[in-house]
Amino acid sequence: MRIAIISDIHGNLEALEAVLNHADREGFDRLVCLGDVVGYGANPCECVDLVRERVSQDDGQELVVKGNHDDAASGGGDEYFNDQAQRAIRWTAEQLSDETLAWLRELKMVFSYTPDYFLVHASPHEPESWHYVVNMGDALSAFDSFTERVAFIGHSHVPFFVSREEGDEQIQIHQTEVVRLENGSRYLTNVGSVGQPRDGDPRACYVFYDVEAGSIQRFRVEYDVEAASRKILEAGLPEFLALRLHKGR
Ligand code: ZN
Repeated sequence: MRIAIISDIHGNLEALEAVLNHADREGFDRLVCLGDVVGYGANPCECVDLVRERVSQDDGQELVVKGNHDDAASGGGDEYFNDQAQRAIRWTAEQLSDETLAWLRELKMVFSYTPDYFLVHASPHEPESWHYVVNMGDALSAFDSFTERVAFIGHSHVPFFVSREEGDEQIQIHQTEVVRLENGSRYLTNVGSVGQPRDGDPRACYVFYDVEAGSIQRFRVEYDVEAASRKILEAGLPEFLALRLHKGR
């Protein structure tokens, strides 16, 4: 099974469409989303609609986990957000229909396909606390909180691949765009962000997981940054949110 995994779309319709077109050309059996469909960008409603239309279902359940912006927009509280994120999330909440708000509110926190893979927005360690995984200590607590071969996460908008051999405390970092999974190791990967990359590369980011072949591949996809950025300004959202799309920061 080839699974396309997208995350952190953040209301950026241009980036989402470009990634879906790319994934369609590559060909997948299942499409899943790791949350933060809304927040920051100018097209939250259109992004929710498109994600719901395209994402795969399992047992009638859409394979989308809840992100902290999805939670905040649907009434989960935004006190811990910085000023710009808070302005954006309040604007976002006003755009969304009651039906969409209810859908966001009811998203699941995790999906687990033991023994193959685990899906969550932030760290697998205490998913409701939205911990970031940015250092070795974070990665170790994350590895202790899932048992599947691979955990796919989002949240920081910075893609990475790390692994840990069974019985070993060491974390290994993989710098390549394609990682071949070895027996006896488990993997943790941040799939990057579709709609607001922060690793210095403005192109949209997502990954493919080939379960049988045991490989994960990361893709970067060009999209119309200018259009997405202009819409943020036209919506009256903070200018910083428009400018950062050009830098990928
Ligand atoms: Zn996010």
